Amino acid sequence: MTDTLELRAGDAILVIGLGRSGLASLEILAHHNVRLYATDEKPPEELSEAIAAAESFGARFVEPAALDAILPTTSWAVLSPGVPPISPVVRAVHRANVPVMGEIELAYRLCKAPIVAVTGTKGKSTTTAMIGHLLRGCGLTARVGGNIGNPLIKEIEGATSKEWIVAEVSSFQLETIRAFKPRVAVLLNIAPDHLDRYPSMDEYAEAKYRICANQSMSDWFVGNLDDPRIEALAWRHGNARVQARQLWFTRNGSERATMYLRDGVVTYAPVTGDPRPIPLLPCSEIPLQGEHNVENAMAALLAALAVGCPPASLRAAIRSFAPMPHRLERVAEIDGVLYVDDSKSTVPTSVVAALRSYDRPIVLIAGGRSKGIGFDALGSAIAQRVKALVAIGESAAEIRKASGDVPVVEAFSMEEAVQRARELAAPGDVVLLSPGCASFDMFASAEDRGEQFSAAVASQREPAGA
Ligand code: ADP
Repeated sequence: MTDTLELRAGDAILVIGLGRSGLASLEILAHHNVRLYATDEKPPEELSEAIAAAESFGARFVEPAALDAILPTTSWAVLSPGVPPISPVVRAVHRANVPVMGEIELAYRLCKAPIVAVTGTKGKSTTTAMIGHLLRGCGLTARVGGNIGNPLIKEIEGATSKEWIVAEVSSFQLETIRAFKPRVAVLLNIAPDHLDRYPSMDEYAEAKYRICANQSMSDWFVGNLDDPRIEALAWRHGNARVQARQLWFTRNGSERATMYLRDGVVTYAPVTGDPRPIPLLPCSEIPLQGEHNVENAMAALLAALAVGCPPASLRAAIRSFAPMPHRLERVAEIDGVLYVDDSKSTVPTSVVAALRSYDRPIVLIAGGRSKGIGFDALGSAIAQRVKALVAIGESAAEIRKASGDVPVVEAFSMEEAVQRARELAAPGDVVLLSPGCASFDMFASAEDRGEQFSAAVASQREPAGA
């Protein structure tokens, strides 16, 4: 397989999954002289709008049961990120020997611009957005896409070789890459997640490692030296596996790091040219809360340096970065109590990171649909740092059990949770929504959960009975 995709006139391409990404793939492929088919395992009555959109791009919808009729003449299948590679449709496509590529692989092959790709268990969106912001702040043209919310395939359209694409990629998407070869690959951290999908942590970590698997000496790899799993991935049986030039960051000091903290200052040790360390900016100027965001910022700064941004421009560029919604977002301060929406915290490690980010008493709202990771480590962090816990959702009892002697109340709606938290908080405290779980037991999405939190906080301002 070559790196670029040659679409020949008359090729037949099947797009699997008619969500946003699948429709975006169809929209882009419609500009090529190919025959388009689309399929989806959802019941047809749930698909009427998506099918209409697919047809507007010239695609013919084929029900999964009818695929056998078209597979023998299908040249490629494009898999949307939401469709598991083990689903019956994908298996049928494999059985028919039709090559399957994921949406990011398709985007890569059609893309003329170099790509900066970011993965990790947590911090992907923040770091991806920050890299885009830094590149733009240094006068480059950068488009941001992928898991962050807008399909990557849409962003690559029309991008020239002088622009940059910054892509957030998940482990699921990395599973289906073949030639995907980012100019800069960033691997932030690897903590337990998606263990319902992967048989073990090793397999999850291997999926993440694929971000740099096709890289060569002309590319750059940015890694977190403080994460032993990432360091271990860079080696196998004593041999170096990362072919790209390596840039490591650490919150500690280390001779092996290209970026580290010295007396609270983010410091860069150039890998080419004058090797004298360059102080970039004090940590206090990073406009995000928490030490984990210092890691995200260091990763973003290294990626920007790898792209060629001048160190002197990065300080001003980072200072104007605005925090993203639902990630330690300050919602309000009412009667001396700070309310913080961290609804995007869907695994225990991100709750631990959030708890470490405040040195004032914390009333924590946590719980939801467990991802099967276990709450023991979180329980110890809660026992150490939390003044009172408001437990919500399916995992409420499990979190309560893990949290030792911390006072716990249970709530059955977000409104009730905020009300209980308000009663437990005193002036100077922070009420922190950082659930550590998926949202789908009580909410439509993590965004919905955060918005309900903000609405409930806003209603605290209103006088009773208003
Ligand atoms: P992702 O896109 O990987 O889910 P986000 O940037 O959207 O990451 O952040 C999601 C949640 O993870 C938020 O609660 C955020 O505060 C937390 N978080 C961000 N970066 C890190 C990190 N490096 N380590 C732990 N938690 C993090």
